[in-house]
Amino acid sequence: MTATPTVDELPRRFSDFDTLGDALDYAAQGQRGFNFHDARAALVRAYPFSELRDDALAAAKRLVAFGIKPGDRVALIADTEPQFCALFFGAVYAGALPVPLPLPTSFGGKDSYIEQIGVQLDSCEPALLLFPDEIEELAGAAGQSRNIPVSGWDVFAAKDAPEVELPAADSSDIAYLQYSSGSTRFPHGVAVSHKALLHNLGSHAHGMLIGDTDRCISWLPFYHDMGLVGCFLSMVANQVSTDYLKTSDFARRPLSWLDLITRNEGTSCSFSPTFGYEICARRIGSQSNVKERFDLSRWRLAGNGADMIRPDVMQRFTDAFAPAGFDAKAFLPSYGLAEATLAVTLMPSGEGMEVELVEETELSGEKQSDGKRPKRFRAIVNCGKPVRDTVLEIRQENGAVLAEKTVGKVWMKGPAVMECYYGDQEATDACLVDGWLDTGDMGYLSEGYLYIVGRAKDMIIINGKNHWPQDIEWAVEQLPGFKAGDIAAFAITTPGGEETPAVLVQCRTSDEIERLRLRNEIKEKVRAITGMNCVIELVPPRTLPRTSSGKLSRAKARNLYLSGDIQPYAVAA
Ligand code: ATP
Ligand code: MG
Repeated sequence: MTATPTVDELPRRFSDFDTLGDALDYAAQGQRGFNFHDARAALVRAYPFSELRDDALAAAKRLVAFGIKPGDRVALIADTEPQFCALFFGAVYAGALPVPLPLPTSFGGKDSYIEQIGVQLDSCEPALLLFPDEIEELAGAAGQSRNIPVSGWDVFAAKDAPEVELPAADSSDIAYLQYSSGSTRFPHGVAVSHKALLHNLGSHAHGMLIGDTDRCISWLPFYHDMGLVGCFLSMVANQVSTDYLKTSDFARRPLSWLDLITRNEGTSCSFSPTFGYEICARRIGSQSNVKERFDLSRWRLAGNGADMIRPDVMQRFTDAFAPAGFDAKAFLPSYGLAEATLAVTLMPSGEGMEVELVEETELSGEKQSDGKRPKRFRAIVNCGKPVRDTVLEIRQENGAVLAEKTVGKVWMKGPAVMECYYGDQEATDACLVDGWLDTGDMGYLSEGYLYIVGRAKDMIIINGKNHWPQDIEWAVEQLPGFKAGDIAAFAITTPGGEETPAVLVQCRTSDEIERLRLRNEIKEKVRAITGMNCVIELVPPRTLPRTSSGKLSRAKARNLYLSGDIQPYAVAA
């Protein structure tokens, strides 16, 4: 049984601090804190904010004694452990910039992991790389080959500390680096100041109406912005007790997430991209013990964001868990990105999810259907209103601002926009213009609400016509035997020099005749959507690349396919 949330004797302050260190100093005076759980949702370690602060100060002193100076980067391979929390804040108290890096995932193997964190280490040039003991070999290999001092966490997380003085921080200093997910390109290290961070964290409290009975429950990784900023830093700065489950444990036993929500005697706030809800709905299937096992009636905010929000999946989740008291009004669609610290828009809490049905040709920027394709509609999710002091514009490629309900590039301006991509002026200048950030996403505004349609870089442009990959992917997914995430669509040039959409489909059948039938069926389906003959390839399960935060990377899928590293099944013509 997890502890019930304690009501602090301190007056609640919502992120009105100058620096992140000040936020922890304050939270540590109260009773709240973090609980870490195992895969079966059993409590492993209670970690009050007061203990986190003591450990972080000790770690800061060790880091300074080691030679870490203000502004140095301290790379931390981020497992969901108390040590990570202590070392992150330790680096902050030492005036250094913590840089969370991903754990190895099942995709790609050891070499690809060493290569990925190697490139990240090259871009942030840390003075120290710290990691959990279990991955010493991998992390050590990446760090030592670059002459970066490396160490297991425990050395720096030890409680006794040398007596050294800690530097003072300023609100305009960079607080940490956060890598973007790497959905469309290699992850970029975003530099966020204390001021920007705390403004965004305050927006969470205001936008979600965080209150005294709220508790956060999270399985999101600390190396992704939604997990780090949304479910770790925000919880310290807004003094919200939190229950953590490791991401790898969630992957093995997803329903433990809902067990933790069930056990919370207060109200729950919990975020997930669509795939988290999808996995739970699929896992529960038609089990009849939903009502006996879960009580989701106190789940106040079921946040969704980080990737396209799928109304069909959210409906499946609602249908599956309504018997356990889940109320769809708890859904809180949000939109954000690392370059804006995290949240850009939030749906007002308690309003649930709203969708608009829009004709697909309108979404791809065409005024009218070409008449060749039957009319098809996509349900677009209302991602909410801009957070405090933030303004949005929808712009054309030439910079002209577009009218309401017209799809274009989403630009934003506000106090939580990043300082820069760390050490990459060129990439910074490409997306930050006169204080405005080009988000790289396409969408439209309607009555002040933002509707996201897709990523500009993912759009498939053939003969001057635009197609959204998700319109193709989601339609193919409706065929029997497929599930969300089984399909990736992107543009390629055929050997004959023609541009065409290519669709990779993860396929579970080993029967060659069945594969042939499936491929033809998919081809017809895609032709009905695009009006074209497309390249359809069936590939083995678990072939499509995902980012470390679990998002499909179409850009990577395309590269792997073109380089021959994704080997499709041979299917007779
Ligand atoms: P990279 O920038 O490295 O290619 P990334 O953009 O996925 O990867 P993040 O900053 O972690 O990296 O994710 C932000 C992106 O996630 C947004 O730019 C957007 O494309 C997508 N996203 C976030 N929220 C939503 C949403 N509600 N609906 C659709 N997409 C969303
Ligand atoms: Mg991005």
